Amino acid sequence: TPLSHIRNFSIVAHIDHGKSTLADRLIQSTNTVADRDMKEQMLDSMDIERERGITIKAQTVRINYTAQNGEEYVLNLIDTPGHVDFAYEVSRSMRAVEGSLLVVDSTQGVEAQTLANVYHAIDADHEIVPVLNKIDLPASDCDRVAEQIEDVIGIDASGAIRVSAKTGQGITETLESIVQNLPAPKGTRDAPLKAMLVDSWYDSYLGVIVLVRIMDGVLKKGDRIRMLSNNSTHHVDRIGVFRPAMTVIDELGPGEIGFLTASIKQVRDTRVGDTITHEKKGTEDALPGFKPSQPVVFCGLFPVDSAEFEDLRDAIEKLALNDASFSYEMETSAALGFGFRCGFLGLLHLEVIRDRIEREYDIELITTAPSVIYHIHMRDGTMHELHNPADMPDLTLVDHLEEPRIKATILVPDDYLGDVLKLCQDRRGIQLDLTYAGSRAMVVYDLPLNEVVFDFYDRLKSVTKGYASFDYAMIGYRQDNLVKMQVLVNDEPVDALSTMVHRDRAEARGRAMVEKLKDLIPRHMFKIPIQAAIGGKVIARETLSAMRKDVTAKCYGGDATRKRKLLDKQKAGKKKMRQFGKVDIPQEAFISALKMD
Ligand code: GDP
Ligand code: MG
Repeated sequence: TPLSHIRNFSIVAHIDHGKSTLADRLIQSTNTVADRDMKEQMLDSMDIERERGITIKAQTVRINYTAQNGEEYVLNLIDTPGHVDFAYEVSRSMRAVEGSLLVVDSTQGVEAQTLANVYHAIDADHEIVPVLNKIDLPASDCDRVAEQIEDVIGIDASGAIRVSAKTGQGITETLESIVQNLPAPKGTRDAPLKAMLVDSWYDSYLGVIVLVRIMDGVLKKGDRIRMLSNNSTHHVDRIGVFRPAMTVIDELGPGEIGFLTASIKQVRDTRVGDTITHEKKGTEDALPGFKPSQPVVFCGLFPVDSAEFEDLRDAIEKLALNDASFSYEMETSAALGFGFRCGFLGLLHLEVIRDRIEREYDIELITTAPSVIYHIHMRDGTMHELHNPADMPDLTLVDHLEEPRIKATILVPDDYLGDVLKLCQDRRGIQLDLTYAGSRAMVVYDLPLNEVVFDFYDRLKSVTKGYASFDYAMIGYRQDNLVKMQVLVNDEPVDALSTMVHRDRAEARGRAMVEKLKDLIPRHMFKIPIQAAIGGKVIARETLSAMRKDVTAKCYGGDATRKRKLLDKQKAGKKKMRQFGKVDIPQEAFISALKMD
């Protein structure tokens, strides 16, 4: 296909504004997929993505479109993830295309992720076509939303296309606008090969599949290629495109998007944003902006049943094959035994991985409190990264601690503004800005990441009845008065419940934690003190009183089968517990105890 007849684009939108539905309609109306093969949300492939209605991995599809001018075009759509955890994936897949459809729900208006994503598109110099979706709904107000797009984002929305991705109205106009308003890619066929590694994932039949965008040159089956980041070389054994099913073709030329396979064993060997060239007569000129994605949230994953440790290792290794942004190393905990310390891009990423281990591998897990990476500056002038509060060095050796801070942008209807400000204030936030976009307030806060990773998003949704939207970006590290708080159950420290807290909040947090634990830990035959402490000094204390817990006592003599049934039940209940010294702690306690109400 000549460059002039190629259009590469992505769709940017806030979650639920109709990105996937619109993608489905574009695929369907161009007969890219036979009607009988069409299923909803073609591009969202993983089960968890479907259930949660989110797209995690960027997906791509090639569409052939005969425009109204009679010419044949090739349209490549890259679908980007819509959640804050995956901001890096969004920004780099944007660099593989020249334009974006900006989809805004015309019953809702601009939201925090609309802004965050459209800024990625603007950063990547995209031409942007605004699309007002859901015009079939009575609450649709296109004029208001178009005006809001102009006010808040500052792009011309007078020609915004009015669409119902549900009924198909406006789809032809959308396709025509892609052809007329988005620029064709540039590139030179005769130049040395320069391709961008956009994404990669593991396929059990084909090995690692690499999604590429060709900038210059031609990639053919049988070529020997080289990755500029590490000079590794590979033999290309397959080239193709997604329609959206994988379809093998002979070559990919400038401006095209497709995949290659080259007997690559691990996703780790392919670095997103890397430049691919030919082994011989290649380019040395790498594409700008390459940076490997870094985990920001860490937690321990331990099997409830310690006999399942090897199964857990197996599950984690398999998942890591397909997800280079997920890191892990073995961890031993005095309380929990053998497990793994895992790093994630954010809380959603953590939940997705944990769900997959529990569901696909059928391993019950204990998840320890999520933690961020602290910088520990020692008296001797060195700096260490702390991934696990349990590893906190002796305080006499420590000069000071720094924690990561984020810039959070929250859009919220006026009525809930007070609650949002209070929530941010409670989480040690510093207000940076407060402006209005129509009847919605836009607040910008500087917040410690450790106050956000846990349940900030849930709390925000609940205090605003779901009307607030949220997005964040890292700012950097800053010093603060942080201490490690330990929890002692029956006088034994439970390392898995250790957390880093701000000194001023420690008492309140400690009290809340021991009160929660008192409710979460079942009574035993003896009295159990539950304490929170900082450096050996107890700051909060509760006592769980003793109880004779003998369920069989209720069946007066006789019935042996009933007695056995009750004992089995008790055993099953115990399975979800973990023993600490003489005390059984249920797994939910590790998460619930840290929630801040
Ligand atoms: P995404 O999160 O942006 O991918 O949004 P989805 O495509 O998953 O759509 C979110 C919800 O809005 C789904 O329940 C869709 O069926 C619905 N939806 C999408 N487009 C339209 C539309 O044009 N009209 C109506 N009434 N509903 C729509
Ligand atoms: Mg979607």
